[in-house]
Amino acid sequence: MSIPLVDLVAQYRTIEREIDEAVKAVLTRGAFILGPNVAALEEEVAAYCGARFGVGVASGTDALILSLRALGIGPGDEVIVPSYTFFATAEAVSLCGAQPVFVDIDPRTYALVPEQVESRITARTRAVIPVHLYGHPAPMEAIMAIARRRGVRVIEDNAQAIGARVGRRPTGGIGDVGCLSFFPSKNLGAYGDGGMVVTSDEAVAQAVRKLRQHGWERKYHPDVIGLNSRLDEIQAAVLRVKLRHLERWTEARRAIADRYRTLLHGAPVGLPEEAADVRHVYHLFVIRVAGRDAVAAQLGARGIATSVYYPLPLHRIRPYREMAPEGVFPESDRAAAETLAIPMYPEMTEALIAQVAGEVREAVRGAVRGPRA
Ligand SMILES: *Cc1c(COP(=O)(O)O)cnc(C)c1O
Repeated sequence: MSIPLVDLVAQYRTIEREIDEAVKAVLTRGAFILGPNVAALEEEVAAYCGARFGVGVASGTDALILSLRALGIGPGDEVIVPSYTFFATAEAVSLCGAQPVFVDIDPRTYALVPEQVESRITARTRAVIPVHLYGHPAPMEAIMAIARRRGVRVIEDNAQAIGARVGRRPTGGIGDVGCLSFFPSKNLGAYGDGGMVVTSDEAVAQAVRKLRQHGWERKYHPDVIGLNSRLDEIQAAVLRVKLRHLERWTEARRAIADRYRTLLHGAPVGLPEEAADVRHVYHLFVIRVAGRDAVAAQLGARGIATSVYYPLPLHRIRPYREMAPEGVFPESDRAAAETLAIPMYPEMTEALIAQVAGEVREAVRGAVRGPRA
């Protein structure tokens, strides 16, 4: 039997009745944009992230763009981002007309390195965007201390880490602004695109609220140039159902991670680490292996889906390669060459987990020996 990376239909089956009722209630009420479910979800997600305000938007990418714009970041400004993350983290900066400035990652947590952040701050630096990659929190205490000292704003890219914590504080609510994605495969996923900005800064919340809808507060009276980036009511209704299950799903992910760790113990495989005092939410379970592409091919042939997040660090993708950013980022290069995500979703059974782990052990042995006949 082949095993997918995530199984969204399996998840739907576990909550089918609740979802169907919630969607039907929206269809029969007839309000589809910025209705009562969006307003309620904004409050619920903000509270879950330890922030005062939530503003639903059309995607995680838009959450980043609107946060940057709400902070007044634009041409002439610099924003520090990790060189190993999903493209949108830097894309949002570029789209606002600002300059992304890359720093390397810590190979144990995949988060940007605070000392490097500090060394890249200039008179033009307006913000830093730590990314809680794969569900592991970035070192927020150190980043916040540097940002406060140097007068730089902090935008958390929390697209992969809703429910993660640093100590007792949920990610997303630690920086000045937190950005969430509800892309279907994210830990809290809609059945379409969606995102949210969370913040405890009322002015920022208001600015995002205005920008997400044509720059107006009063209909047809725009104050600034905004855009159309709204979360729709059906997705909000789906997300409110799913949010009620999120803690249970997160605990299931963590239990699966524990099983993988036990079953892969002693194999020549780099396993994800957890920094002290953080809650990792395992959006992805990413291992590191020598001969990564051969291992992936062999797993694929044995019916185990894998994926590479991400095959190119940002300083090597075409738009930024041509911009020739300063600096070298060896850990980002290494991560791009060695990382491999293996199946991780809350509905995985013990049998599936064991099957994946067994095949990974086989594949890494094969990769070390060379291709199997
Ligand atoms: C998914 C993701 C985004 C963008 O979210 P979308 O909803 O797909 O626009 C941004 N940053 C990171 C790290 C992500 O994983």
